[in-house]
Parts: sequence; C-alpha cells; structure tokens
Amino acid sequence: MSKLQTPVRKNDTVAVTTGKDSGKRGRVLRVLPAKNRVIVEGVNIIKRHTKPNPQRNIKGGLVEREAGLHASNVQVVCPECGKPTRMGSRVLGDGRKVRICRKCEGVVDK
Ligand SMILES: [Zn+2]
Repeated sequence: MSKLQTPVRKNDTVAVTTGKDSGKRGRVLRVLPAKNRVIVEGVNIIKRHTKPNPQRNIKGGLVEREAGLHASNVQVVCPECGKPTRMGSRVLGDGRKVRICRKCEGVVDK
C-alpha cells in the first residue's frame, strides 16, 4: 500500500475540480495530511448553528466556516501559467526538491 500524499501546500492557490464548487479557486488555509484533506478559503462553506457559551465567549447563531475538501478534488494553480495542473517534482542543483508544473514546466516553489 502506497501512502496517498497530496502535493498541495499551505498558501497554494488551488482550483476545485469536482462538486458544487467546481471551478472555484481559493487559497489553501490548512492541509490535513492524515485525512488527505485541504481547507480552502471561501470554498465548501458550511453553516452551523452554535449555541451561545458565555464562558468561552462564544455568541450563538449562524457560523460559517470552510469544511474542506478531499485533496484529490483540487489541483494546484500554477503561478507561472495560471492553470490548474498536476505537479511533478524536480531536484535542483542545490539539492532542494521543488514542485514543477506539468503543463509549462515552471517551478511552483520559489
Ligand atoms: Zn504552469
């Protein structure tokens, strides 16, 4: 069994490839590698009713937050060509491993 590993990193811009938010783009707020999920700003918003809890200074009401997506449902948007793309990887001369765009071969990690 190979471990599923997402190439998505925090602060990447990603495009959603499936589901109701398909086509939307957003910045990655968090990556949850154990669950293979990513939390993307403004994408897959869920509304939750919360009860007020004065001890924890929580007001009751409707709270919106990002529910996150499975990492396989997003693609990293290449900063070079601006297209959602699969990631390759390359080891640079200084030994640094970087992600590269499969479309334009541009280096994604600066
Ligand atoms: Zn590219």
